[in-house]
Amino acid sequence: MITGRFAPSPSGPLHLGNLACCILAYLSARSAGGEFLLRIEDLDTQRCRPEYAEDAIRVLRRFGFDWDGEVLWQSRRSAIYEEALQKLDTYPCFCTRAELLASSAPNLGDTQTVYPGTCRSLTAQAIAEKKKVRRPALRLRVPDEEISFTDGLQGICTENLARDCGDFILRRSDGLYGYQLAVVVDDGLSSVTQVVRGRDILSATPRQIYLTRLLGYEPPSYWHIPLLLSPDGRRLAKRDHDLGLENLLTKFSPQQILGHLSYAYGIVPSPRPISLADLVPRFSWSCVPRNDVRLGAQLLE
Ligand code: GLU
Repeated sequence: MITGRFAPSPSGPLHLGNLACCILAYLSARSAGGEFLLRIEDLDTQRCRPEYAEDAIRVLRRFGFDWDGEVLWQSRRSAIYEEALQKLDTYPCFCTRAELLASSAPNLGDTQTVYPGTCRSLTAQAIAEKKKVRRPALRLRVPDEEISFTDGLQGICTENLARDCGDFILRRSDGLYGYQLAVVVDDGLSSVTQVVRGRDILSATPRQIYLTRLLGYEPPSYWHIPLLLSPDGRRLAKRDHDLGLENLLTKFSPQQILGHLSYAYGIVPSPRPISLADLVPRFSWSCVPRNDVRLGAQLLE
């Protein structure tokens, strides 16, 4: 039995890329007679807004999505994340972002740097002294070990956590729980068996697999879907077009939008309007490409 989920972060209005992800996650679960869950990833209270989440839920309903059980809100689950954190081998880290940037070599793009282990072996006394000045983040000690998994679309992916990422943050210095921890705990406790999400999150997956193992959950299967590009092949950017779904729904019907997206992802042979219910029996992963897909021009006019 498959249990899939869609887990948007309400840091802005739901857009076409999010919808593509939700469509594939939903079709994959429902076409196999499985369950589908909705989780709002609103941990980062500085970036997320409840009204974006409420709008997202309303928009998803307009497209015909349904989900099993209650919507799960990460912002209400701190005690659960804290309990998981207590089971893990973490240490306090007092490094500031500026210090880390200054000390690290660029690694996986601009946003990810390898933590050099500065605070890994602080003495109890040093920790006590530093705590008087600054509140620490908590990092997970990672092993020098290859983590490998087979993504349903992207194939075999391997990462050595120590070499490629370093000890990573599970709780930030401002007290917010890390995305990696919350995703793993929520997927684990909800018995999610299948994770379908954007290819941009592929590089976080080895960390999540390692956490899944430490916390004793069954690992889900992973399907990292190609990103949606503009008709001329650029990454869709909000500044280029108003891609918010509420805006698009003022010009197109849900069925028209579903038709264009499911055509872009290879599920149907033409971009004709189609309902979500009619897409369910047509879905097969074998039609979905692994490289990024282009959206037809019609929706962006
Ligand atoms: N909340 C993440 C996002 O909106 C997705 C996380 C996931 O699917 O694991 O990009």
